[in-house]
Amino acid sequence: LSDRLSGIFDKLTGRGALSENDVNEALREIRRALIEADVALPVVRSFTDKVRNRAVGAEVVKSVTPGQMVVKIVHDQLVEMLGAESQGVDLNAAAPVTIMMVGLQGSGKTTTTSKIARRLTQRDKRKVLMASLDTRRPAAQEQLKVLGEQNDVDTLPIVEGQGPVDIAKRAMTAAKLGGYDVVLLDTAGRTHIDEPLMVEMADVKSATQPHEILLVADALTGQDAVNLAKNFDERVGITGIALTRMDGDGRGGAALSMHAVTGKPVKLVGTGEKSDALEDFHPKRIADRILGMGDIVSLVEKAAEAIDAEKAAEMARRMQKGHFDLNDLAEQLKQMEKLGGMSGMMGMLPGVGKMKKQIEASNIDDKMFKRQVAIIQSMTKIEKRKPELLKASRKKRIAAGAGVGVAEVNKLLKMHRQMADMMKQMGKKKGMLGKMMGGL
Ligand code: GDP
Ligand code: MG
Repeated sequence: LSDRLSGIFDKLTGRGALSENDVNEALREIRRALIEADVALPVVRSFTDKVRNRAVGAEVVKSVTPGQMVVKIVHDQLVEMLGAESQGVDLNAAAPVTIMMVGLQGSGKTTTTSKIARRLTQRDKRKVLMASLDTRRPAAQEQLKVLGEQNDVDTLPIVEGQGPVDIAKRAMTAAKLGGYDVVLLDTAGRTHIDEPLMVEMADVKSATQPHEILLVADALTGQDAVNLAKNFDERVGITGIALTRMDGDGRGGAALSMHAVTGKPVKLVGTGEKSDALEDFHPKRIADRILGMGDIVSLVEKAAEAIDAEKAAEMARRMQKGHFDLNDLAEQLKQMEKLGGMSGMMGMLPGVGKMKKQIEASNIDDKMFKRQVAIIQSMTKIEKRKPELLKASRKKRIAAGAGVGVAEVNKLLKMHRQMADMMKQMGKKKGMLGKMMGGL
C-alpha cells in the first residue's frame, strides 16, 4: 500500500486547498487498503464519501504535503467511525449482572467467556458464575468447566439432558442463591446464521434478560461481517462486540463494518488463546492496522505534529494581539486533552504554580474537556466569536444542544473570561507566552 500511496502523493504537490482530483486519486488507494483489510463494501463506500466531504476544500497546512493531509483526514475519520475507546463490559446493573455471549461456531465465544470471567474475578474482584448453554457440541460444557478450573471461576454444574433455556434459568437461580455478582452465559453457535439459532438466542434472552449481549466475531470475518452483525442485532439485539484473533493476520476491518451497521461499540479484543489475552478496544490501534502499519502511521504522526504546531503558532499570534475567542478555547481544550489534561500540561510549564491553583479552583477537571468542547460546538459562528451575545435564551438553547445544564454553560463562559484575561496579561510578557505555546 505505502509504495502505491507515496507514488500518488508525490504527484500531489499543490498548495492551498485540496482539490477534488487530489482527493479522488488518493481515495482510490485508500479504498483498496480498506478492502484488503476486509472492510465490507457498503461501509467502504460510506467511509470514502465521508472522507471526500471532509477533505475536498480542506486547507493544506504549510508543513505537510497534500498527500499527508489526506492520510491524516482518512486516519481521523477512521478513528471516529470505529467508535469510542472502551473499558470492557458494563456491570452497572443489579446483581447478578447477566452477560450473554453470542456468535458463530468457532468464533471464540467459550474462550472469550472465560477471559472475561477471569478479568472480572482477578482485576475487578467480582464473584462470577459461568454456564455453558451449548448442548449441541459434544464436550462443550466440559470445555467451559475445564477453563473455569484453570482460572478459579465457578461453573454451573452440568446436568445431562437439559436444553439451553432450562440451563440458563438454572444458572440465574444458582447465581441469585449463591450471591454471585455476574453470570456469564456461553451459548452454542452454528457454522452459519440460521433460523433455529436465532430462535434459540431469542428464547435464552427472554428467559434471562441479559444486561449485556456480546457478539463474538473473528477478526478475519470478511464481507460477511455486515450480515452477521445485522442479523444478530436485529434478531437478538446486541449491546456490544468482542473481536477475537487480533493476534493473527486479520487487519480488523470487521470492527469497522460491524460497528457501522449496528452502531454498537466494539468493547473487547482477543489477542491469543490464553485466558489473559484480552484487551480493551482502542480505535486508534485498529485504525493504524486497517491502514497498514509502519509508514502510514509515521506519516500520520508527522502530519499531526505539523498541524498541531501550526495551530499553536496561529493561536499564539492571535493571543498576542489580544484575541482569544471560544474557537480558540475549543481548540485549546482539544489540545489539552491530547496532552494528558490540564494538570499534565501545567506540569510542563515553568513558573505557573500560582496559575495552576487558580485553574484548579475554577473547577477545570480533565474529564470535562469533551463536554466543554460539545458546549462550544453547539454555538453559532457568531456566538463563538462574540460570547458577550450569550444571554439567557441563547444559553438555554446551547445547553440543550450539548446535553448539559445552563449552569455548565455559565461555568464555561466564566472560565473563558478568566483565561482570556490571563492570556492578555501573559501577552504583555512575551517571553512567557512563547514558552507556554512551546508547551502546547
Ligand atoms: P466457540 O465455538 O465460539 O466457543 O469458540 P472457542 O472459544 O471454542 O474458540 C475456538 C478456537 O479459537 C479455540 O481453539 C480458541 O483457542 C481459539 N481462539 C479464541 N479466541 C482467540 C484469540 O483471540 N486468538 C487466538 N489465536 N485464538 C483464539
Ligand atoms: Mg463454545
